[in-house]
Amino acid sequence: MRKLIGNTGRKRGEAIEAYPWHMPGNADSELEQVTTPSAPLESDGAREDPVGSARVLLIEDEPGIVDFVQRGLEAEGFVVASAVDGIEGERLALKGGFDAIVLDLMLPGRSGLEILGSVRRNTPSVPVIVLTARAEIEDRVAGLDAGAVDYLVKPFSLAELVARVRAQLRVVAQASASTLHSEDIEVDLLTRRVRRGGQAVALSTTEFELLVYLLRHHGQVVSREQILGSVWGYEHDPATNVVDVYVGYLRRKLGRPGDPAPIFTVRAVGYRLGSAN
Ligand code: CA
Repeated sequence: MRKLIGNTGRKRGEAIEAYPWHMPGNADSELEQVTTPSAPLESDGAREDPVGSARVLLIEDEPGIVDFVQRGLEAEGFVVASAVDGIEGERLALKGGFDAIVLDLMLPGRSGLEILGSVRRNTPSVPVIVLTARAEIEDRVAGLDAGAVDYLVKPFSLAELVARVRAQLRVVAQASASTLHSEDIEVDLLTRRVRRGGQAVALSTTEFELLVYLLRHHGQVVSREQILGSVWGYEHDPATNVVDVYVGYLRRKLGRPGDPAPIFTVRAVGYRLGSAN
C-alpha cells in the first residue's frame, strides 16, 4: 500500500519496517496496516498533491527514532530537517519554512509543550503532530489544547506517522477550498449551503461554523476547548456545555433514520467527524 518516492539512496523498502525502539515483550509490533483518513475532497480536483515534497521538521532527542523517522519520511518524498534538543528545535521551528512539525514532548533544553506554544503564536497554520511516550489521556488533552493537531503515542509505526502527516498536510491544503466534503456531507463556504447525501440541511450560523470546523479537522479528535476557542472565539466558563449542546443540534439535523450523523464522541477528549485513521 505504501509507495516509495524520492531518491534516498536506499533500496526500496529497506529498513522501513524496522523498529529501532522495539520494546521487549512487544513482539507483535509488525508494521501495521493503517489506512489514511480519507481527506475531505476539494472542489477543484486540479489542485496539486499537497503532500508533494512537503518540508517536515522533526524535533526528537532519541537518535534511533530520529534516524528511523527521518529516513522513513524521506523515503516517502518529504524533505526532512531534524533537531535533537528543544532549543535547536524551537529555533528551527520559528525560522519557518516548514509545512509540518513532528514534535516529541520530552526534550532537553525546552519542552515540547513550550515549543508548541511558541509555534502557535508565530506560525499558527503549521500543523504540529506530537509524539509522546505518555499515553495518559490528560497528556493528550494538554497537547491538543496547546495547539497540536494530532498526537502519536510511542511506540508507533512509521506507516501511521506518515499517514498522520499526510492527513494534516491535506487539511492545510484544503483550508482554502470553497467547498468541503466529508463522508456524504457537503458544505459550500460561499453560499453557506449544506447537504447530506444530496439533501439540503438548514443550519443556524453557529451550527454552520461548528460543522465547518469539524469538517476542516475531519478524522481528527478535537477537544471541547479547541472547538470553543475556534467556533465561539471568546473566553468561556470552562464548565460550559455549549459545545455538547450544539453537537447535539448538528447530529439531529444531519442525522437520518438509521443513519446517524458521522460525529463521534471521543470519551474524555472531545469529538471527531468521520472515521478514525
Ligand atoms: Ca524524548
